[in-house]
Amino acid sequence: MKIGALIVAAGRGARAGGDIPKQYSSLAGRTVLAWSVRAFTSAGIADVVVVIDPEREELCRAAIGNAARLVAGGTTRTASVRAGLAALADSELILIHDAARPGLQRATVAALVAAIEDGAQGAAPALPVADALRRIDASGRVNGEVERDGVMRVQTPQAFRGDVIRAAYAALPSDAAVSDDIAVARANGADVVLIPGDPKLMKLTYPEDAALLDRMLAGERITCVGSGFDAHRFGEGDHVSLCGVRISHSKGLLGHSDADAGWHALVDAILGALGEGDIGAHFPPSDPQWKGADSEKFLRHAATLVEQSGARVLHVDITLICERPKIGPHREAMRARTADVLGLPPSRVSIKATTTERMGFTGREEGLAAQATATLERPG
Ligand code: MG
Repeated sequence: MKIGALIVAAGRGARAGGDIPKQYSSLAGRTVLAWSVRAFTSAGIADVVVVIDPEREELCRAAIGNAARLVAGGTTRTASVRAGLAALADSELILIHDAARPGLQRATVAALVAAIEDGAQGAAPALPVADALRRIDASGRVNGEVERDGVMRVQTPQAFRGDVIRAAYAALPSDAAVSDDIAVARANGADVVLIPGDPKLMKLTYPEDAALLDRMLAGERITCVGSGFDAHRFGEGDHVSLCGVRISHSKGLLGHSDADAGWHALVDAILGALGEGDIGAHFPPSDPQWKGADSEKFLRHAATLVEQSGARVLHVDITLICERPKIGPHREAMRARTADVLGLPPSRVSIKATTTERMGFTGREEGLAAQATATLERPG
C-alpha cells in the first residue's frame, strides 16, 4: 500500500513560559515536531506532510529541513486535516498524528500499518485507564463516578485506509465539532480497532509534561571528558591573545590564526568529548580563510557542534603554561569571555596557570602551551 503520514502542527498554543508554539520548542536536543517527523521517516514512510501555520514556515524549515512536505493549515484542526488529506490524495493508507506527541516510536507506526494492511478500516494506539475516574461539579466537588471498565485513552497517530478517511471527511459537515479522526471516521460508519498504546506517546499539554518528555526522549545520556593540548611559539609583537583576552606583552605568538593556545586547547577538548576529530580537521591551517582568524570563531563552531549533537557542556578547565605574561590579573576576564561564548555561567569555567620552573620550551620562553578538559553530557 502507498503510505502517507500527516502531522497536524498548525496550532498556535505556546508551551507554558514560552512565546513560540509548543511544536517548535526543544526537547532532548530536537524540536517537538522533528521528533515525530523522524519517527515516521525512520519507520520507512517517505511521504510525510506537515500541516503548519503558514506564518511559521521558516521556523518549521529550521526544525525539520526538507524531511517533509509543508502544507498551509486552516483555522481549525478539522480544516488542517482536510488540507493535509488533499496533499495525500493518492495515499492508500494514511496516518494522522498530532505534533504535540513527540514520543512516537517506530514500533507503533509499524503496528498501525500492519493493522490496516490486515484489513482494518481504522486503527489507533490506546492505553487502559489506571486511575479512578470521577465527575466533578463547577466548584470541583465530586458528584459522580465514571465506570473505568471499557474505557481507553486513545493516542495518535490514528491510521486509516485512504478511501475510508477521505470519504469520512467529505461527509463531515463543515461546522461539525469532532474530538479526533476516529470520531470523524466512525460518524461515517467506519470500523476502528485499537492497538496497544505507548506511555511515551503522552501529549505535551501541561507545563510539567515538558520535563517528563525530555527525560523519556533523551534516552541514555553519558558524561564524556575530552582533553586538548596546544602550543604556540613566541615571535615579534606587542601582545598575545589568550582565552579571548588581549594581553600586552613584549612578544607576540606566531600561528596561522590569532594563536590563542588556550581556546585552541579548549576547542580540541570539546571536539574530543564529542568524538569529532581535532581543530585541524575542522579549520585546516592550509585554508587561507583562517589566516589571522579570531579564535572565537573556532570556539563558537565547537559550541554549535555541541548543540547539534544534543549535548551540553557541563564544565571546562583550562591550564595556561608560561613564565610570562602573568595570567593572574586576566583570569577573571578570560573566564567571563569563555563562559560568554559557550553560554555557560562563569562558575562552570576554570582558568588556571602554571610555569614549568624555567625548564623546557615554556621555561625558556620560546613559546607557551595550554591544556584543557571539557566535561560534556550527551546522548550515549
Ligand atoms: Mg593552535
